[in-house]
Amino acid sequence: MRNGDTLFIDGKWCAADDGRTFRVTDPATGAVIATAADGGTAETDRAIAAAHEAFDTWSAENAYRRAEVLWRTHALMTERAEDLAALMTQEQGKPLKAALNEVRYAADFLAWFAEEAKRVYGSSIPSSRGGQRFSVLRQPVGVVAGITPWNYPVSMITRKVAPAVAAGCSIVLKPAEQTPLCAVAVFELLAEAGLPPGVANLVTTSRPAEVGARLLDSPLVRKLTFTGSTEVGKDLTARAAATMKRVSMELGGHAPMIVFDDADPVHAAKGAALVKFLNTGQACISPNRIFVQRSVLPAFTDALLDRVGKLVPGPGHRPGVTIGPLVDEAALRKVTRQVEDAVEKGARLLAGGDRLTDDGLDAGRFFAPTVLADVDESMRIYREETFGPVAAIVPFDDESEVVRRANDTEYGLASYLYTRDLGRSVRVSEALRFGIVGVNDINPTAAAAPFGGVGMSGLGREGGAHGIDEYLDVKLVGVCLP
Ligand code: NAD
Repeated sequence: MRNGDTLFIDGKWCAADDGRTFRVTDPATGAVIATAADGGTAETDRAIAAAHEAFDTWSAENAYRRAEVLWRTHALMTERAEDLAALMTQEQGKPLKAALNEVRYAADFLAWFAEEAKRVYGSSIPSSRGGQRFSVLRQPVGVVAGITPWNYPVSMITRKVAPAVAAGCSIVLKPAEQTPLCAVAVFELLAEAGLPPGVANLVTTSRPAEVGARLLDSPLVRKLTFTGSTEVGKDLTARAAATMKRVSMELGGHAPMIVFDDADPVHAAKGAALVKFLNTGQACISPNRIFVQRSVLPAFTDALLDRVGKLVPGPGHRPGVTIGPLVDEAALRKVTRQVEDAVEKGARLLAGGDRLTDDGLDAGRFFAPTVLADVDESMRIYREETFGPVAAIVPFDDESEVVRRANDTEYGLASYLYTRDLGRSVRVSEALRFGIVGVNDINPTAAAAPFGGVGMSGLGREGGAHGIDEYLDVKLVGVCLP
């Protein structure tokens, strides 16, 4: 494992200029795993310059060659999936099986965009003037800055780097300070796959604002792609305006899940348990408000409690563990505050509700899988993104009421509904103001499908045929024939 030399600039691994490093810890034990280079202004400038230098050659490279590099990276990632998953479990905390699923999802983006590189089609447009021809080209935007979060520390990187590289852009990536080692592992694969120097550069840092400011202020950077909180995303978007950068923003969510009385409540509870506690609730598509129609409320609640009772919290590498720690103390405080506030305002605590400290869990940041019933509008958990293992159940009576309440949020990323009524599934999925709707489906995501939100959940789409558009400018060429 690299120690301190985790910057990847112009095809070379290096340390910070002043040798500064920061510690990377295991959230399950608090133990220090390694140190990472603490890049700053000078290192970021060099990474931008390297990306700028590489852009002309890489953008002129043919699409088949760009695709080959991504396919080779895909092969390496698939071959080393178990090692990468073990590293992710250690650095981020999720159970090994979930980490392996994430690595496979991350590799899917490499494969998908390797193919999309060959489909950057243009078009021709008929002109009203006989001697004129119009053609439309799609060309890479230039140097891209990518900023990624800790919760999906491998797939959020390939979801940005793969389309950028496929489109012919070069990129400078700044990963989250909690998970630089996963980023290093991805960049090692890109380098081994033969990506030319400068095309993808990595700046690890414990000073995101300093590196971010440099990336944002540089006129050489033509696009920012960000995944993280709405608060930071809004700030970066405003800042990007000064140099008129393109922006893609994958931000927070506050997903509703609606369980109608015509659905099977036990099946719906199984889905709710799987997606709610995925990644310890630290997912932007995690259902935060589980609306259940009153007549199926008892059956749904019993089935959910049964599933929650079987979850096994612990360090992600321990056999049998199904739910890992929260990322840090601040996350624990936020979840605790939301649960206390809800209980004070009348919610019933049916399971969990506390930090877990027995069986050696006190060294990590573990919160018991929690179920709250009778949640309503007056509670913080009804309004704020939770990002923790708390299922908040909200009773409802009819369809129009629940659609209004589900849409009553500034966020608009994922939403879910359970129904067996075809008409209702169409009506409600059309009425929900979210970028993603899962109908009897808790996993409406794939590399081949567009992912993204509306409102305060962001701008643009990642993945699918739309994903590469974010890295391409449209150019019109008008030709007058002599
Ligand atoms: P965060 O916004 O604090 O951090 C995300 C990234 O931004 C990190 O790399 C961090 O270092 C960086 N950052 C923070 N301040 C910065 C600044 N001033 N300048 C430049 N970079 C800065 O978010 P987080 O709490 O680490 O991540 C969780 C959030 O991410 C949640 O809100 C979640 O919903 C969201 N998320 C969204 C998606 C999506 O696709 N929509 C996916 C995963 C996570």
